[in-house]
This record gives sequence, C-alpha cells and structure tokens, in this order.
Amino acid sequence: MTTRTGLPAALLVLAAAALLAGCADKPAHETRKLVVIGIDSADWRLWDPMLEEGRLPNLKAFMAQSAHGRMRTFVPLEKSPLLWASICTGVGPEVHGVSHFVKGEDQQPVQGSAWNAPAIWDILGATGMSTSVVGMWTTYPARPIAGVMVSDYLPYGHGRDAPLANLVYPDSLTAPVVALRVDPADITDEQLLRFLDPEQLAVANAQWPEVVQALREIWAADLGYLAVNRLLAEDDRFDLFFFYLRGPDMISHRFYHYMMPEKSRLVVKPGEAEAFGQVVRRYYDWCDEVLGEVLGWFPPDRQVVVLSDHGFYGPRASGDKGTAEHSEWGVFLVRSPLYEAGARIDRIELLDIAPTFLALIGLPAGGDMPGNVLAEALTPRGEDLVRALEGNRLPSYMALTPGEGPDGERDPSVDEELRRQLKALGYIN
Ligand SMILES: [Zn+2]
Repeated sequence: MTTRTGLPAALLVLAAAALLAGCADKPAHETRKLVVIGIDSADWRLWDPMLEEGRLPNLKAFMAQSAHGRMRTFVPLEKSPLLWASICTGVGPEVHGVSHFVKGEDQQPVQGSAWNAPAIWDILGATGMSTSVVGMWTTYPARPIAGVMVSDYLPYGHGRDAPLANLVYPDSLTAPVVALRVDPADITDEQLLRFLDPEQLAVANAQWPEVVQALREIWAADLGYLAVNRLLAEDDRFDLFFFYLRGPDMISHRFYHYMMPEKSRLVVKPGEAEAFGQVVRRYYDWCDEVLGEVLGWFPPDRQVVVLSDHGFYGPRASGDKGTAEHSEWGVFLVRSPLYEAGARIDRIELLDIAPTFLALIGLPAGGDMPGNVLAEALTPRGEDLVRALEGNRLPSYMALTPGEGPDGERDPSVDEELRRQLKALGYIN
C-alpha cells in the first residue's frame, strides 16, 4: 500500500495491534465484519408514515433488530459528496478536501478518489482487512485499495465503444462489472408500472417524456449498482461491504414536489401530480425490497449499519432547490452485539459515524477525528469495548492518506452527462 507520506502502513498496523493488545483487562481482541447500507437522503419524516401504512416490511423487521434513531448532518446543509466523504473519513471537508463537484468556467467535473484523508477502507487495508465499495461519490478514477472499488462513473458513457479507463479496481473485474450496467433505454414500461399507475404511464410518456426519462436514468443506475453488489457479495469475502444507493436523493429532488404540489412553488402542471405523485414513496418501497435482498446476502448475525447522509425536507416555500431541500436529520440504524436491539437512539452526529464504524469493526478512532463512538443504546459488552477503544485512540490515521492513484479518462460527453445530472439536482447552475 502506498501512502502519500510514504510512511509504511505497516507501522500503523503494528501500532494498532500493540494498542489493542494493551487493553490487558479485556478479553483477546477480535475484529468483526461490517455491512454498511447507505440510502442517500433517507428521512424518518417519509419513513414513519409509510411504516404506519404497513409498508417497508424489511425496514420494520430491521428496526426490531437494531438500535435506531436520527443522524444529524452538517448545518448549513451540504451536498452529498461532501457529506459521504466526511462519513467515510471521520473528518470535515477542510481536511478531506472533497467539496466541489465542478471547477473552472467550463464546469469540468472534479475527478479523484484519492482524498486528502484516509477513508475507512484505507484504514482497514492497513490493518489487513478488505473492503468492497461501489458507487460512492467522488471515486473516479477507482484507485487501488485492499478489496474492490467500483467508481460512481459506472452509469455514464453508455454510448461509448469501450468503458472509461479505471472505472473499477482491480481492472480484472472491469468486464464483469461493466456487463452488469443497466441501460436506461432497456427499462420497459412494464417495469415502470411499479412507480406509475398504468393509465398515468401512458399519459406521462406522451406529455412528459423527459420526466419519465429521468426516472429511467436514476433507477437504471441503482439497478446496475445493485447487480454489481450482488456479484461482489457472492462469496462474502470482504470485511467491510459498503453498499450505497444514490437514487433516493435524486428521485426526491426530481419528484418530491409532485407528492406535495401545494407546498411547491414549482409549477406542477395539471395531471402531473396524478402521474408522478407516488414515485417517491414507491421508490422507497423498492429500496425496502433492496434492503431485504442485501441483508439476505449475509449471515443474520452480521453487523449492519443503515444510514443516510442527510434527510429530505421537500419543496421549500422559497422555491430553492438543491441542498435547500435537504433536512438536518437523516437516519441511523445499527445491528450489532454492541447495541441494544430495538432501542431508540436520540441522535448521532455525522462525524460520530466513522469512529462508530471503526468501533464496530474493533478498531480505535484516530485522535484527530472530531466525533465520538455512538454511546447510546450500548449493551454491557458494547460499553466495555467502546470504553477501551475511546480510551486508547491512535493519535492519527492521516499517514494512511492515499497517493494520487491512476489517471481518470476525460470524455466531454461523460462530463456533460454529469453536469446535466448535477444541474437536475440543483447542485450547480
Ligand atoms: Zn440531495
């Protein structure tokens, strides 16, 4: 493993091992596997009424197995790439450096998966553990990690003869991964009937084809990532399996106002609310099926965190789009022997998440990570372990900051696709 400082990662591994062995009053330390299921912009404000209606059965079952509650994101409200990089590194954007999506007058999308701080997969790699991470923001070009990284550029550039360079690490997986992409054009009307009523779909295809197309594109990307994750989960070989769905946030930015046209200053034309008013909730019905499937890939005692990076408020009276529609409160659920099943958590702060991930895996946080391991709803075993880990933080993991990694390929048509999507989200003008 190459780090930016050139400091051998093995030194840190030794430090971590010595530190953990130093917890002499504790039983022999062991690390544990973790599955993370990120659902961008998931919010109890939408989930609770759906649960009351008897929807989201997999979420309901998981809530009984997990400690769960609210996750407070950064205020002022921020964009998802910045938030997820903070979740994955445990430090803020002033340290990890992921804050802009386009640069320059020509709005070139920012590339680079080598952030200015190590992500949790870099920390795990240094301690001999492996990670699968698929579709995470700001991970193009995919770079060498201990495990597999599938870049968030995977859905783009369908029209190209060959896939973009360095979409996947290791490159030996590029062909099987790319083969699992879903082309929006291949999504049939019949498939879309899970989001739109039959009579409404015909009207929508005739009158608002661009809105239907947005739905196709967003869902196709998530379907592709789901298929890739399904492949990578097959032999359960990763210590950290990081599953992420970007679609719910994009669906919310594009369709929330149809669900509550009275709150929106966006002009919802006659008929549009009837056609698209159920898309957001039905997309979350689909996410719940995905949750059930992903949980089913792993043993029932596997530690799992389900979380979002922010909540979703919906249309603002001001008419502002983008981060203005995000809300301060996301979701956080953790199933682990360290936390009481079914217990309520009042709150976890966004920067507490990385230290909590590390504790679940059995590693101490860095002393320069501002957050704390979640201290609510701990079991007696969890209290012991968290006390030991929090009392013995490593000074810093920053020496594991990755080197530059491979070059990304620049394709003007892919850049344009990305800009179009960022504009649709209200992230750029
Ligand atoms: Zn968003």
